[in-house]
Amino acid sequence: MQASFNDGLTARSAPVELIVEGERLTFDADGQAHVWSLADLQIEDLGERLRLSHPKIGDGRLTVDAAAWRASVGGVRAERRHRSRETRLVVGLAVAGLAIAAVVFIGVPAASGPLARATPPDIEKRMGRNFEGQLSLGFRRCNGEAGQTALATFGHRLQDAADTPFDIRVRAVQAPMANAFALPGGAVMVTDDLIDMAKTPDELSAVIAHEAAHVERRHVMQAVWRSLGLGLVLDAVVGGGSGAGQQAVLLAGSVADLRFSRSAEREADIRGQQLLEKGGLSSQGMAPFFQRIAAKGDGPNAAAVKELMSSHPDSLRRAHESAARAHPGAAAFTPAEWTAIKAACHKPKRTLERILKDPLGA
Ligand SMILES: [Zn+2]
Repeated sequence: MQASFNDGLTARSAPVELIVEGERLTFDADGQAHVWSLADLQIEDLGERLRLSHPKIGDGRLTVDAAAWRASVGGVRAERRHRSRETRLVVGLAVAGLAIAAVVFIGVPAASGPLARATPPDIEKRMGRNFEGQLSLGFRRCNGEAGQTALATFGHRLQDAADTPFDIRVRAVQAPMANAFALPGGAVMVTDDLIDMAKTPDELSAVIAHEAAHVERRHVMQAVWRSLGLGLVLDAVVGGGSGAGQQAVLLAGSVADLRFSRSAEREADIRGQQLLEKGGLSSQGMAPFFQRIAAKGDGPNAAAVKELMSSHPDSLRRAHESAARAHPGAAAFTPAEWTAIKAACHKPKRTLERILKDPLGA
């Protein structure tokens, strides 16, 4: 197979003939024989060409025709790599004490609690990174940096109060619904509409603390196991390559939709308030927020706030219960931080003049 070789030291590239035999790639360049093991090969996709590099040779690199490479070795290798990642994963789960057979025979719903608690945090973190990557396409991060910093700092305070191996990373995103949701691995997304809906710092901090409690109690992972089943969970963790990417897109669509059981919601309400109190913060914002959701009735807004409530009586009940548990305390955000958070997602108004000047809103 023809390729061109650059030694990484000079700008010059020389044509070389690649020979792939078993696990080795060999070629001669500048009168020197090179032997690269396929296992350590790093492959960068440049479209029609691939750039191959190897830790043994520093910045040196080969450029080959992608189709020719795949025809001879690529397909076989990709398949093998995918399999070995899955094997590692399954071994990891088994070591963690998961009985895969239990999922098949008992069914995921019954097993999802123990499964979630037994899922190694590193696996959940990896799954979270895949989810986040996909979600960032649909839920754009708001660009008010002062507001984002205030939210992130509050996330760290919750993390300090919580007992969790995950970084609680709170972020404001743009979405056509009032919602807050936690992803596997500790990311918490708060939508622009929900920020608009919150009347006080106490209300917003209560919603975020509720989501942080879902993360701490592994409810997110539990919902993933329950909703998606083993096959999709494996794909979500393995991510990219061999069709798993498409699965991940489907998952991204449904992750904002993951349902928690009523008992998990109640636990997250209670624990969320505790996390606030442990940090010396007010836990009084949860009740008024639920009351407002309940008061919205069956309107379109109510339907949109799905994670926070599953039915109106439930919202009212949760409002009463959280009011009974509430304690006064400091506000989670200073007035300046609150102003910044409220402005974090605001887009400039599209006046007629602006639209005529810039029809695509670029
Ligand atoms: Zn919840």
